[in-house]
Amino acid sequence: MSEINPLELAKDYSQFVPFTARMMAAIRARESNREDRLFHDPFAANLAGQDAFNQVDSQLTPKDQAYVAVRTRFFDDFLTSTRTSQVVLLASGLDARAYRLPWPPNMQLYELDYPKVLTYKANLLKDATPACNHHLIGADLTQPWAEKLLSAGYAPKVPAIWLIEGLLMYLSEAQAHHLIETVSQLSAPGSQLGLDLLNAKAVEYGPYKGYFQFGTDTPKSFLSQYGWQANITQPKEPGANFGRYAELPPPPDDIEDMKTFFIKANKIDVS
Ligand code: SAM
Repeated sequence: MSEINPLELAKDYSQFVPFTARMMAAIRARESNREDRLFHDPFAANLAGQDAFNQVDSQLTPKDQAYVAVRTRFFDDFLTSTRTSQVVLLASGLDARAYRLPWPPNMQLYELDYPKVLTYKANLLKDATPACNHHLIGADLTQPWAEKLLSAGYAPKVPAIWLIEGLLMYLSEAQAHHLIETVSQLSAPGSQLGLDLLNAKAVEYGPYKGYFQFGTDTPKSFLSQYGWQANITQPKEPGANFGRYAELPPPPDDIEDMKTFFIKANKIDVS
């Protein structure tokens, strides 16, 4: 990934989407340097590299960067507050949670992303020690990937925690549905799912207009059809504010404003 030329990014979707992982790492590095930081990611600056800092500075507003910091903290809290023995991070990118969060003993943590993203990460973190049993699985998540996860040791009868952070907006509607359906098929009752979603307006007008594809104004029903009972929080609301926003988000039923949803969902036993 290091050879990617940021000036070429706008022209090449297949290069740009993996590069966003480095941009997220750059934002986490900046956040980690703040006195009032919401988390500390000591690996992020190295993983990001200078190109990604340049791209963040030229393309993303302080508001966009605050959003990523709040999202990271929101899902850090989600992951560390739940009790299970297996966690799956889909499209983990350059997320260093395997190394920086306090996992219970014997936690199995599986990360899936494009092979080139995970190879880049593994090379840069080769001297770091994960705080869990760590499994990196290179996969295109728009292609069949469940067998790879099962072969790596994932136990489908044991409740799991899943995180899909910063991915669904880059998929088509059919791909997003198929991904959630696959996650559901692999999830025992009692499993939990964290994810972020955009609404339709944010797909149309957000900072990555043209790259974003999927969003929904009805996140609860999007998830309930696959057996997930969702609890939705908008950034800025209590629980997803962390002192970073003075204002409240648009009302839940307002579809004319751009919105993002932070979601924690529980797998329901439908048998
Ligand atoms: N979750 C990480 C975070 O929050 O820092 C990364 C988010 S980054 C915005 C989007 C990630 O999705 C990238 O790491 C990219 O490689 C991954 N991604 C996008 N489409 C994918 C696909 N079809 N298969 C696997 N990974 C994909």
